[in-house]
Amino acid sequence: MPPVFSPAELAPMDVAGRVPRLLELLDAAGCDALLVTKAENVRYLTGFSGSAGMLLVSPAGSLLVTDGRYREQAGEQVASAGVECELVVDAAKGQLDALASAAQRHGRLGLEATSVTWSLQQRLASSFDRSELVATRGLVERLRAVKDAGEAARIEAACDVADVAIAQVKSMLAEGCTEAQFATELEAEMRRRGSSGASFETIVASGPNGAKPHARPTERVVGRGELVVVDFGATVDGYRSDMTRTLCVGAPEGELARLVEAVFAAQRAGLRAVAAGVTGGAVDEACRTSLVEAGYGDAFLHSTGHGVGLEIHESPAVAKDSADILGPGTVVTVEPGAYLAGFGGARIEDTVLVGSSVARPLTKSTKDYTL
Ligand code: ZN
Ligand code: ZN
Repeated sequence: MPPVFSPAELAPMDVAGRVPRLLELLDAAGCDALLVTKAENVRYLTGFSGSAGMLLVSPAGSLLVTDGRYREQAGEQVASAGVECELVVDAAKGQLDALASAAQRHGRLGLEATSVTWSLQQRLASSFDRSELVATRGLVERLRAVKDAGEAARIEAACDVADVAIAQVKSMLAEGCTEAQFATELEAEMRRRGSSGASFETIVASGPNGAKPHARPTERVVGRGELVVVDFGATVDGYRSDMTRTLCVGAPEGELARLVEAVFAAQRAGLRAVAAGVTGGAVDEACRTSLVEAGYGDAFLHSTGHGVGLEIHESPAVAKDSADILGPGTVVTVEPGAYLAGFGGARIEDTVLVGSSVARPLTKSTKDYTL
């Protein structure tokens, strides 16, 4: 099975343009420089995808520190991203010394409050004794919420991989496989089609297990007439996709049929509400109102969606009362669900790209759910 996409043909990303945009946000955040410690943010700003590294960003230039495991990789990735930054490869103490020496030129040093642990904050406070440490929140994440063409192309490629994989393997459900067997085959098919790994732990939840929104696949054999919630995604060059399909071997009857049709109607209402300039809260309201009117308001146990990118859950929030604006270039999911304990559940999820006015679905899998 060939990969679904050609890596060489993906549109390039403008990695080098990101630090200058971040610098413009620092003053309003009360700092002169920012120490970036969250791995996805370091990757976004430099192209370096290692698991350990810190990036000091300041008007005087950027400094990336990492350890010996990444000596070659860090240099290669930063160069291939076209990013100008000094690189120090050393053990932890040497990294802190290099950062402290560069940071002492700046009075107010921002830290990423939601990713710095208590112990790291203590080490930084003693190493950076000449800087005032300032808590910042969501500075890089705010930039990451708006994808450039290269990022959107990678997310779309990840969506395409997931679309092809589910189409390829879904007939297994009719052959009496277990939830775990189906999850394993779906993930393997995504890898064969070009995914570097599942974008999160695959959910396959059949029958009563479907009432648990985040059920893990079990040894339960999928039966006829049951709803099976399959929530999964692929990863391409670090960018993730996210989709859910609720499938059924045969046709659901009675309450199960009403449940799944109500979720489909809510998802259509949510998709119609997604447009440039609307809030995440408005999209959530569209789905929630639809399910309330169908009598399943109390069965909708989670938010309508979330941003997707280098992380599976990122800005903007598509949740009740969320004021986050879905601007052009944002990528979000729309995933209403309804869950009846001990009975079953349904969820439908697409990943969509918000354009200059309307949204374009990146998930293109059929919504025909019977097998
Ligand atoms: Zn999902
Ligand atoms: Zn999701």
